Amino acid sequence: MAEMKKQSSFKLEKRDSVWFQDNTAPVNMAYIKDVCDLAILPIGAIEQHGPHCPCGMDSFNAIGIAEKVAEKSGAMVLPCPMYGGHPYMHMGMPCTIPLNYDTHMALLHDIIAGAANAGFNKFLIISAHGQTCTMATAVHKLGMEGFFTLGSTWYDFLRDDKTVLEDYMWHADEAESSMGLSLYGDKMHMDLAIAGGGTPLVDGKWKMAPGEHSHPGQMYHFEGTFALMEKDDLEFGVIGDPTKASKEKGDKLVEGVTEHYTNLVKDIMAKFPCGINPLGFRNPLGFNGCASIQYDKDHDSRGQLLRK
Ligand SMILES: [Zn+2]
Repeated sequence: MAEMKKQSSFKLEKRDSVWFQDNTAPVNMAYIKDVCDLAILPIGAIEQHGPHCPCGMDSFNAIGIAEKVAEKSGAMVLPCPMYGGHPYMHMGMPCTIPLNYDTHMALLHDIIAGAANAGFNKFLIISAHGQTCTMATAVHKLGMEGFFTLGSTWYDFLRDDKTVLEDYMWHADEAESSMGLSLYGDKMHMDLAIAGGGTPLVDGKWKMAPGEHSHPGQMYHFEGTFALMEKDDLEFGVIGDPTKASKEKGDKLVEGVTEHYTNLVKDIMAKFPCGINPLGFRNPLGFNGCASIQYDKDHDSRGQLLRK
């Protein structure tokens, strides 16, 4: 059997790419062990985004943000699974390809549990699509198994609250189209952009819009079936007004959200250095039983990090 050749030590400490799938296994494992063991998983969707945006918009937005955060923070990016789990109101829209909720939760679980085998101890999901119902559940299932995972959507994390934008974040709208113009202008067709609609079932004042600061007497925008089914209500999958979009607004959104995520990654890595699992355990039984959790050598019997 031929002897396996090793890459130079320089290469092993320095990744060739921020993308996990572009590096060899030895480079990935050395980088994760010695430099940064936090993985970013960008998630989006394949869905209709009106006549002016590509159907992969949400995945492209997540990929674009994740790549910039990885470049600035040192985190590695896992490949984006592209398909997503959709809030109910997108059901039946042509060119939307939804995963059912069990499939999407299993997808997130299996990617993170599998990636942990390469040495990652921290995970940050960056979503560019309204799939809070599956992402939040998957995060807590992963937590029961000892996988430290944060799930976020870029617009709620940024909370622009009409600072850069004239409106809150909706769908194929000012926010998403601006981000598309910033990240992949060649795939956008702004000459075809039209203002969209959407018929609310409950007055909007009771709902915290995506990206909005919260006020008393408001529910989170994914805590209810607030709107009619899009397929019965709209000719195109556009909610909000993309004619207000611009590359300049997109550049500001990308820059702002990249800075916040970069600071989050740096904060986690400063508190829990490379090699430390912040939860301090792995429990393969997970949901099926968690009565015998054993903390690892870095934690005491109550899960407190031991300082050396
Ligand atoms: Zn979208």
